[in-house]
Amino acid sequence: MAETFAFNADIQQLMSLIINTFYSNKEIFLRELISNASDALDKIRYESITDPEKIESEPNFFIKIVPDRTNSTLTIEDSGIGMTKNELVNNLGTIAKSGTKAFMEALTAGADISMIGQFGVGFYSAYLVADQVKVISKNNDDDQHVWESSAGGSFTVSADPDGNTLGRGTSIVLTMKEDMADYLEERKIKDLVKKHSEFISFDIMLQTEKTEEKEVSDDESDDEDGKDGKEGEDDDDDAPKVEDVTEEDGEKKKKTKTIKEVTTDWEKINSQQPLWMRKPEDVTHEEYASFYKALSNDWEEHQAVKHFSVEGQLE
Ligand code: ADP
Repeated sequence: MAETFAFNADIQQLMSLIINTFYSNKEIFLRELISNASDALDKIRYESITDPEKIESEPNFFIKIVPDRTNSTLTIEDSGIGMTKNELVNNLGTIAKSGTKAFMEALTAGADISMIGQFGVGFYSAYLVADQVKVISKNNDDDQHVWESSAGGSFTVSADPDGNTLGRGTSIVLTMKEDMADYLEERKIKDLVKKHSEFISFDIMLQTEKTEEKEVSDDESDDEDGKDGKEGEDDDDDAPKVEDVTEEDGEKKKKTKTIKEVTTDWEKINSQQPLWMRKPEDVTHEEYASFYKALSNDWEEHQAVKHFSVEGQLE
């Protein structure tokens, strides 16, 4: 049973602004959602220091990204602290923060949409690229719930009929707008993570697809015989009739056909060697800037950089 809630008026206005205003810099949604995932992981990691039992529900800390081109969805999943039903309702729609209004004012005054995170409303940047957003979340203190909204002033929250599939954490499923299919491309996602989220301290795993051509025997016409033939080899009772036929056919060349087999795998996409381990001449200005921002939470770039190594008993 889904309960329907009205968005807080300020949040509703913010969402309309995000959906209806023309911004080209939509790519920042991924940085915002990864940053939320990383915050949620920090929270559970911190709690687990004093209470190790809290991570028994899911001992691994990760962020997973799953592009699904068939259904046009992009899923960002984390094994962070998760949200209870009340938190889903309060944090994602009914309680506006001071930043909500402040951000709209800043936008009117010419601020860039990419500053959304500074105002504490980064989640809603999902609507830059998605028509519909589904948030599935499991916190240790509650059952798994599903938050869902296509904007338009309201959202629903319901107990997940599939039960606890996450163990612990949050899965955000974005149904992408028609012209946003680019964000489902592996190359694009890797580039964006490298650009904006390289120094996230948890593993970011991308589900990748590999298409391999495989040769298989092509006995469509005598499929039945083929099967019986195989069974016949193991089972003497069935052998006589079928095996005779198979042997005769065996004189001819076996027919094969090439099929495409799609397999999926996980690839860690923030596996950069630390900057300080690399040669200074190989590190770009942008890499220093992104490293500095990740370290300091500053939105400005570094003022200067000094990159050196010293050797003693330790290097
Ligand atoms: P901010 O993260 O800056 O507080 P957001 O609008 O991005 O603002 O998110 C609102 C709130 O929703 C967060 O403060 C957090 O409590 C909750 N939230 C968002 N994403 C997640 C997530 N992946 N896991 C757990 N909680 C989340």
